[in-house]
Amino acid sequence: MSTDNAHLADRAARAEKIIAAPDNFKVCEGCDSIVTERVVNCPNCHGYRFDESPERVVEQARLLATRPQQSVTAQDLS
Ligand SMILES: [Zn+2]
Repeated sequence: MSTDNAHLADRAARAEKIIAAPDNFKVCEGCDSIVTERVVNCPNCHGYRFDESPERVVEQARLLATRPQQSVTAQDLS
């Protein structure tokens, strides 16, 4: 029916994987994106500061699973 629901389900599935293995991920301090542990720069905002604590990763993954939009876009700022 709604593609939004499918999108959200897909997001929830991704979040579950992240919550299951938070050590493999970290949270960008610049835009709150969850990125894989091995990236040096955030692919979204090119930031280089990350919070690698599993608690933060899990918390952020839960947020992303319920929020329709992952990060602030240029459109949101105008
Ligand atoms: Zn970022």
